[in-house]
Amino acid sequence: MKKLLVGAIGLAAVAVAVVLVANAVVSGLPIAKSLTEATVPGYVPGGAPFGMIGTDPDDPDDPWSAEAPPGGAILQTPGPTASPGAVGTIRVPIPKVLPTGPRRVGIQVGHWKTDEAPSELRSLVPQTGAAWEGVTELDVNLDVAQRLAVILNAKGIAVDILPVTVPVGYIADAVIALHADSDGVGELSGFKMAHNARRGPFETALLNDVKDAYAAATHLDYDSGHVSRNMLGYYPYNWSRYQHAVSPYTPGVIIEMGYISNDDDRALMLDHPDVLANGIANGIMQFLSDTPRSKLFEHEIVVPAFPQRPTRTSVP
Ligand SMILES: [Zn+2]
Repeated sequence: MKKLLVGAIGLAAVAVAVVLVANAVVSGLPIAKSLTEATVPGYVPGGAPFGMIGTDPDDPDDPWSAEAPPGGAILQTPGPTASPGAVGTIRVPIPKVLPTGPRRVGIQVGHWKTDEAPSELRSLVPQTGAAWEGVTELDVNLDVAQRLAVILNAKGIAVDILPVTVPVGYIADAVIALHADSDGVGELSGFKMAHNARRGPFETALLNDVKDAYAAATHLDYDSGHVSRNMLGYYPYNWSRYQHAVSPYTPGVIIEMGYISNDDDRALMLDHPDVLANGIANGIMQFLSDTPRSKLFEHEIVVPAFPQRPTRTSVP
């Protein structure tokens, strides 16, 4: 069904393009930029397959058919002189509509409104999050998100509180996804962070700023030994797999704020959620002050392509 819809939209776009070109020729008007892009070799419209198999570096056992993000992308395959095994690159054009007004931050509440996920995110519906002794992760995530939003608003930042399903190609100055964890036994303590591969150049800075500020505020240890595959390949940052994903131009990180299964971590999260929210806010403000909006959209994002999808051979 999804492919049929994409096909129908594509046909409509072609029809509009033909009319615009005809008008431009007649009237001498310049042809719209989007039409030029559509004629660039290797241009793949948003939602269309690249013909490549996507994988996370940390999770090669879970491949998918890689697709162009909203707005499309340009696939550059290796030339005849490229070294064996070269895969080429994917160029993601700078978004045509850039944010205006105050700096904007998206706060995704982990596991919030999971039941409203669209079909492409169907596999997430059973993931309701960690729970321990009557405390659910969702309660902690939502509480901290609301406090964080108030703090950022007071500093002049526009905030979107986002559920599991982020808007298609969401653009902001930064996004943070809030989660809390359980180890199932109550032994582990600390917080964890991650960002995805194949995104822009600012995610490490955002991660480090929040990590330093959160550690200073909460005095929790950073638990680098238990950063999971789900964190490194966190779905809303995976634009080559899902259309409901954050634009690669929006720096995005995930934080597991602590273990609700740990008595001390849980007490901190339940009794002092403002401490958590303030730590995260300090990190985000540091990042925003170091990274003006103009820098976020200054250079086109170019990432390594995925391996080609093997051509299917007919079975006799
Ligand atoms: Zn979670």
